[in-house]
Amino acid sequence: MIVVSKIDELKKLIYDWKSQGQTIGFCPTMGSLHAGHMDLVQSSKTQTDKTIVSIFVNPTQFNDPKDFEKYPVNTENDLLLCEKNGVDIVFLPDVKTMYPDTKTPIQLSIPKLQNHLCGRTRPGHFEGVLQIVAKLFHLTEPTKAFFGLKDYQQFRVISAMVENLNFPLDIVGVPTRRETDGLAMSSRNVRLSTKERETASLIPRMFALAKKTIQAGERDIKLWKEILRDFLLTGSSLRIDYLEVVDPIELQPKEKLEGEILLAIAVFVGEVRLIDNQVIEIPN
Ligand code: AMP
Repeated sequence: MIVVSKIDELKKLIYDWKSQGQTIGFCPTMGSLHAGHMDLVQSSKTQTDKTIVSIFVNPTQFNDPKDFEKYPVNTENDLLLCEKNGVDIVFLPDVKTMYPDTKTPIQLSIPKLQNHLCGRTRPGHFEGVLQIVAKLFHLTEPTKAFFGLKDYQQFRVISAMVENLNFPLDIVGVPTRRETDGLAMSSRNVRLSTKERETASLIPRMFALAKKTIQAGERDIKLWKEILRDFLLTGSSLRIDYLEVVDPIELQPKEKLEGEILLAIAVFVGEVRLIDNQVIEIPN
């Protein structure tokens, strides 16, 4: 495994691979890697010849500077995990390398997809994501790039950028890796106290309830959301940022419980913001 932090070095390695006709899989991350990230790596390894992981805590996607400062960093462990999982290159740039020009910044956005859900509470977040991902795509020239469906809105925003701007690559969505109680794995989970971790397990239990009530015939969207909100809030200290039912492609609010829906939530457990979602097929 090669660890590079300089763009020239990265481009030289990629040039060599490309001239040998190798396909490249790319998994962008912010580090503090866990089994969910490694699912992206494994998908990449089965679908492409070479796999690149980038580790970069991107400052432009943090609307809250405190969240940025507290973002866990664990580079030594990340590199071990990447090595163990057969990653070919880890790209580990610093902020100056990624943002040499801070005087004339560019802004990318897909308003229809990003002005609600996480975009509402985190203004500027998706602009930051699109900016860094577009740059990383140009630097790594991947055949395929792998994104977790846990960050479903991010997956859709990036897929739409690739489509709109004709980036020559495919986006692959990878299912969410979960802990044994169903909580989605997240780098932020390490910031939860034991008590908060218990509270967080309400999230997967809420999704189980959501499916159960649909199976039992619930079709009133307003009532359904109320049942789920009540379940999360009764006797718990959890705060709901949003709990929304949208269509899985354009992420617009659904009026009725029919067809395929995306149930997406963001909650605060203590100071930690957690997100999760499920695509649910509503039976006729
Ligand atoms: P992050 O380091 O949080 O920016 O995540 C990097 C990539 O890993 C993103 O595409 C995430 O959606 C994906 N990812 C994070 N957590 C999980 C998980 N539990 N299961 C699958 N993919 C994940």
